Amino acid sequence: MEVRNFIGGNFVDSISKSNIPVINPANQNVVGQIDEALDEEIDLALLAAKNSFNQRILQDMDASLKSKKMRSIASKLREYKKRGGMILSQENGKTIEQCEGEFDGAANVFDYYAGLTDKIENKLIPSGNDTFNYIVLEPFGVSLQIVPWNYPIALFARSVAVSLVVGNTIVIKPPELCPISSNIFGEIFNEVELPDGVINIVHGYGEVTGKKLVDHNSIDQVVFTGSPEVASEILKRTADRIIPCHLELGGKSAAIIYPDANIDNAVDSTIKGIFKPNAGQICVAMSRVIIHQKIKDEYITKLFEKTKKLKIGAGSDNTTEVTPLISTEQLQRVSNYCQSGVQSGAELIIGGEKHDQENGNYYKPTIFDNVDPKSTIAQEEIFGPVTSIFNFETEEEAVEIANSTDYGLASGVFTNNDEKAKWTADRIEAGIVWHNDWFVDGVNLPGGGYKKSGYGRDGGIDSLYSYGQTKRVSKRIY
Ligand code: NAD
Repeated sequence: MEVRNFIGGNFVDSISKSNIPVINPANQNVVGQIDEALDEEIDLALLAAKNSFNQRILQDMDASLKSKKMRSIASKLREYKKRGGMILSQENGKTIEQCEGEFDGAANVFDYYAGLTDKIENKLIPSGNDTFNYIVLEPFGVSLQIVPWNYPIALFARSVAVSLVVGNTIVIKPPELCPISSNIFGEIFNEVELPDGVINIVHGYGEVTGKKLVDHNSIDQVVFTGSPEVASEILKRTADRIIPCHLELGGKSAAIIYPDANIDNAVDSTIKGIFKPNAGQICVAMSRVIIHQKIKDEYITKLFEKTKKLKIGAGSDNTTEVTPLISTEQLQRVSNYCQSGVQSGAELIIGGEKHDQENGNYYKPTIFDNVDPKSTIAQEEIFGPVTSIFNFETEEEAVEIANSTDYGLASGVFTNNDEKAKWTADRIEAGIVWHNDWFVDGVNLPGGGYKKSGYGRDGGIDSLYSYGQTKRVSKRIY
């Protein structure tokens, strides 16, 4: 598998002569070394993207040709999912099946946006008999895209596919913790003969390469998926240049479970929402459960029984249900949060400790009950297999707890009463509200954050308007 940077349509030999080791989180083995892009590589990548933007390669490309190329990218992603899924599993920790699924999901995204290339209908706005106004969607220019480690292939696809439709050229930086699998995109772009320079892939640490990219004068947009802390830093670094930023950030997503809910559904949703897949390292993880007193005991008993049976282990075994955390640092972070939960007086129902297996970064699925809504574990994103349970009596109380964090990414409501679900959805401050299940998703559905979970939308047609800007042309007719 290629470990070089992909610039101007080629994998290029390292100029910086520096590389980054990539570690398997299941056993600490070195999976490979990825080339680090420093000043010269960064300049070259941004120059390639700038040149191809200035030549209007994507803007002037025939829509059906663009669509065809994007559909070919989708087919190649499906064709290479075994190879890609294997590498992703080794560097990221998820099961091979989940990683192959990520390639399938990425392919679906390219297929969906391929279908939109010839369907953007611009507006014509009347404003009197002697004028003629039309509005067109235009790209920003060079889009810098920075991707986190939890779903690197899916998140690469979601921002690149829509950018191709709108016409931005791209420099994208995959996450340094699991970068190798993203290089498959470079291979594919060449195989489908995407014009050189339209998409460039550079690797490196966020603190080094990420910062240099953000500070570069050639960028016209930043698409950042990651933590609010880094997002805030990016906003400050781009403020003087007034660079538009599209931010998809963390979450502390809450499920409200009303007394009439189907408890078994709610339990199954919790298991998949916080423990599997990816051991809770999901921006939209169900990290809070707000449940009515009347049904809490039954819910906790059932949740406990299912949680204790979850199989913890390496992603190389497809029957694993709880895979390792991405790094030893992340393992320590989750562990510290759980200690702080105990110290804050929360009741530990299960878990709360590391799981020893082959030197991997494993943490046991953890449930805290009677959590103080103001405590650290209730407020901050843990990004691990840890959920906190809160009680409520009135609907107003439930919504107040749900809205009591700085985040607003996803949420859920479990009830068979549609009126109550709507009442709740209307009041929840989050970009997604799931009703009676967790992860009700599709490539055609937009999602994104409220509050510190970011702004801009990804997915569906709405996403086009987060990756472009409108231009009005107004004519006086003499
Ligand atoms: P992170 O913010 O540490 O890093 C994300 C990316 O930013 C990485 O590629 C990293 O190299 C880069 N980076 C780090 N510091 C940088 C800097 N100073 N300048 C420029 N780039 C820099 O986040 P992470 O730990 O990789 O990912 C976890 C976070 O991502 C969680 O908060 C999670 O909720 C969030 N996330 C959000 C979504 C979403 O769609 N809302 C999806 C997945 C993950």
